Amino acid sequence: MSEQRFNELRGEPVVYAIHRQDRTFLPTRERCPLDATRPGGPETEIPVASFEIAVFENRFPAFSSPRGAAEVVVYTDDHDGSFGTLAAERAEALMWVWRHRYLELGARADIEYVFIFENRGVEVGVTLHHPHGQIYGYPFLPPVPALELAADERLGGCTPCALLAGELDDGRRLLVENDAVVAYVPFAARWGYEVHVATREHRPSLAACGADELRLLADALQRVVRGFDALFERPFPYVMAVHQAPTGDSGGIDAPGGGHLHVEFYPPLRTAEKLKYLAGSEQGAGTFIADMLPEDSAVALREAIARAG
Ligand SMILES: [Zn+2]
Ligand SMILES: [Zn+2]
Ligand SMILES: [Zn+2]
Repeated sequence: MSEQRFNELRGEPVVYAIHRQDRTFLPTRERCPLDATRPGGPETEIPVASFEIAVFENRFPAFSSPRGAAEVVVYTDDHDGSFGTLAAERAEALMWVWRHRYLELGARADIEYVFIFENRGVEVGVTLHHPHGQIYGYPFLPPVPALELAADERLGGCTPCALLAGELDDGRRLLVENDAVVAYVPFAARWGYEVHVATREHRPSLAACGADELRLLADALQRVVRGFDALFERPFPYVMAVHQAPTGDSGGIDAPGGGHLHVEFYPPLRTAEKLKYLAGSEQGAGTFIADMLPEDSAVALREAIARAG
């Protein structure tokens, strides 16, 4: 179905998923494939009349068994919500669903890295507006988590632990704090309103978190996203990336190799209307040029989070 090649010059895999050209593109409200299948209504991807959270295999997968997995996670059967507006209990339940998928996909021998993410907004290529995220089970360790593990080697310890300690010490870029997690604009953010949410304790993955931590993680994530929406008083596009320990190719989640659960948000907006484009320096040299300081973004985001509640 899809073909993987290795780009020698960059030292990274590229996946060709040609069939994805045919995938559903911004269907009308009546034809939303992520709605429940209501009696008398059109058949959707989800063959039940109502649901809380639904997970199913992507019909247009970039990865599929026995070479990985691609799943869709639908947060609610309410078409018009968003992650930020889910009831707190539902957001908490979503953390348990993520945890379950991490464990189950991570136990597969053909999956080395379980990547949970959400693309939100047409600005980041979203083709369906119904609140949902995705999970890829990569049959290899992708470059970004590999870079983070290389940072652990370079620093001689857990990098997210060290960065969090630095942010707590500095304090200027902190956004949300509770007993289990901290949200902040990182010291060297690449995106104008980049936010990281990390567990206070060293937790390799969601599987290592207690029930209270999962609840408090959900709460902090929702506060961040509601703050995003309040910032420019418009739905705020972002990529949300959940980084966790690799699960290895031996099956099971005990694979050595480090990792510290954190969630990164990459929002492409610089102002209410202006998008940050990845252009010459970013694409050709790999160096982000930002036009605002993380300390200033943090002030604006803190105010927006307070407004949003
Ligand atoms: Zn829908
Ligand atoms: Zn750590
Ligand atoms: Zn990360």
